[in-house]
Amino acid sequence: MIHKLYGSTGINVSAIGFGAMRFADQSQTEECASLVKYAYDKGITYFDTAPGYGKSEELLGVAFKTMLKERARRPFYVSSKTMGGDPSSIRRDLETSLTRMGLEYLDFYHMWCLLSPEAYAERKRNGALKEFDRLKEEGLIRHICVSSHMSGGDIGALLADYPFEGVLLGYSAMNFAFRDAGVEAAAAARRGVVAMNPLGGGVIPREPKRFEFVRTRNDETVVEAALRFIINDPRITVALAGFSTTAQVDEALRAIDGFQPLSEDQVAKIRVGIREAFNELCTGCQYCDQCPQSIPVPYYLDAYNHMVLGNGPQDMINRLQWQWGIKLEDDYLDRCNQCGLCEKACTQKLPIRDRLAAIRAEVGKARLAVKK
Ligand code: SF4
Ligand code: SF4
Repeated sequence: MIHKLYGSTGINVSAIGFGAMRFADQSQTEECASLVKYAYDKGITYFDTAPGYGKSEELLGVAFKTMLKERARRPFYVSSKTMGGDPSSIRRDLETSLTRMGLEYLDFYHMWCLLSPEAYAERKRNGALKEFDRLKEEGLIRHICVSSHMSGGDIGALLADYPFEGVLLGYSAMNFAFRDAGVEAAAAARRGVVAMNPLGGGVIPREPKRFEFVRTRNDETVVEAALRFIINDPRITVALAGFSTTAQVDEALRAIDGFQPLSEDQVAKIRVGIREAFNELCTGCQYCDQCPQSIPVPYYLDAYNHMVLGNGPQDMINRLQWQWGIKLEDDYLDRCNQCGLCEKACTQKLPIRDRLAAIRAEVGKARLAVKK
């Protein structure tokens, strides 16, 4: 196992983390707990969950009953999150998480799902950060972190405002252009960086041909190569993979076992490769993010990618809601006046207006389905 120092905490964590959001069947308690224990026995020491991942915290709690007996000899670290926006809900969430997992403290506790600088300002105004500080003083949490889907520059501003010790953000061979500025800011400030969805939320394994550009060796799979691309990045502490099976754990571990540092030239080729492989898709460069009607065009085009590459319109709707915080009822797309500025700026020369219209149609159908 490769270990990396988590920011300035002095803690060394495994370069692959266990994302406990993709258990195959949460009703199979023993099987899920065995998967967690299997990963721990193979050397994974970073376990991430959240109260919103179904029974994930309870399932981890079952595995931890055994693992805690070995913790002094083989340390492991637990991360969870709260969307609480005020002191009492943050405290209540933490107490619930600790009870579910049978833990006395959490190693990494995240202010969860910050979707915009305004959302952060509101939580701050309501006393969220002061409550995090109190929980740390009381020893109930060890490190205060943040999980955000904001764009890179906004994450930099967030880290400059409060000394979060780590940041959890989506980062993969599919979307790195969106997040580079945030990763750069976090690493420069010596904060831990945990990359969630390093396999593009399952899109990379489903589309091996398209992601062929990440492979630098004949003896590696696209999944191994995509993980190695993340592991290779000195700015990133943990690649957080969501596991459903022991075979997936084994594949991630093979990425570690056979890891050889990539040369600068190889990294540069991968970065260029995404442009060619995503010829008709959005690469996340954000050059179009200048809509006079304040439409977050890159977010919509990223979600469109997920419709094309993933499982259709529902994947796109999920992406808009859970990754970018754009709700079904939001009216951004109604504001487009067809000025075409976004298309002029697009590095991929994409038919952005047509795509926005297609998204708008799907959002309309989803709204109707909700009303029925
Ligand atoms: S065409 Fe629509 S989305 Fe593009 S810049 Fe103009 S108003 Fe914004
Ligand atoms: S400019 Fe084009 S490729 Fe870049 S984010 Fe916008 S839509 Fe995507």
